[in-house]
Amino acid sequence: MVAEINVLSTWIPEQMSPGTLFVLENAGEVGEPEDPYFAVLACPECGTLGLITKRQIAGLVAVICGSDCCAAQFYIRDSAIEVRRPS
Ligand SMILES: [Zn+2]
Repeated sequence: MVAEINVLSTWIPEQMSPGTLFVLENAGEVGEPEDPYFAVLACPECGTLGLITKRQIAGLVAVICGSDCCAAQFYIRDSAIEVRRPS
């Protein structure tokens, strides 16, 4: 798993390597009003793209990879990825 988030300022699908984040153009306007979708993140483990919410970007809620063959769970800490440890 990569340890740092790489922010893309322009949507270039080929550059969405693991750990790459792209802030949605309509960030905060879709999804739950209290926790809207905010960005697309390529899973730092497997590279599967997934939508993440404002709370996940803020590190309040863990990100769980949506891929069936990947069990990555992690928190976003500013530009770093912190693996979620089982408590
Ligand atoms: Zn994954």
